[in-house]
Amino acid sequence: MGLYIILMGVQGAGKGVQAGFISETYTIPHVSTGDLFRAMKTREDDLAQRVQAIMAAGKLVDDDTTNEVVADRLAQEDAQNGVILDGYPRNQQQAAFLEKYLAEKGEQVNAVLLLNLDLYTAFKRAFGRVTAPNGDSYNYYYKRDNVDFSVEKDPSGDYPPRMIAKLNGETLKRRGDDADAMAVVKRIDTYLELTQPLLEYYGEKGIVHEVDAAQDIAVVSEAIQQVIDGVR
Ligand code: AMP
Repeated sequence: MGLYIILMGVQGAGKGVQAGFISETYTIPHVSTGDLFRAMKTREDDLAQRVQAIMAAGKLVDDDTTNEVVADRLAQEDAQNGVILDGYPRNQQQAAFLEKYLAEKGEQVNAVLLLNLDLYTAFKRAFGRVTAPNGDSYNYYYKRDNVDFSVEKDPSGDYPPRMIAKLNGETLKRRGDDADAMAVVKRIDTYLELTQPLLEYYGEKGIVHEVDAAQDIAVVSEAIQQVIDGVR
């Protein structure tokens, strides 16, 4: 039997970091639909172009496209012992698709981990986030370390200020959909509207496990490990 874990939580709850921890600890790949879609950035085909426009607006990619991309990923060799799903499923149609897909393989979702975080913190974690080329993440509000943060105001005052982050002279990267406050709010709203009902769906199956995501990363990881060891 494989290990199929779903990570849920609002943007900024630390899904990416904890998915990395689970992936290493249980040697199953981290499958993030956001990452899969972002990887299409260099592609120029119709599907990739459509996905990019949708993401830039902070909207969700349609279910058929999303399910197809996930099914392709789950069919790959390295995913045969299970996966840690991050950002998927995001609604009931996707959950139903996943359930059917796994049932055909004689598998099922073992646990849904809900990373709980208040929405104000969630906003700041996404809006303030920047990433170094080696993948290290920093935050304007929470984790400055040696990063030189500055804010450049628009001279006319008509446009939002620009946040610039430099580490050792190198400019750190801020995701376009993190830098756009309206897109961040939209993602939080979409999460509340679509994803919360999913919790009821999985709640009825008795597989939802809540973890307080406002704690330190290591403490959250430990809580997650306890849950997974308990369902394995
Ligand atoms: P994320 O990195 O999970 O925040 O995803 C970034 C963007 O990718 C989202 O705002 C959506 O546009 C798209 N996306 C990621 N996962 C899904 C999904 N399961 N269903 C639809 N769209 C998705």
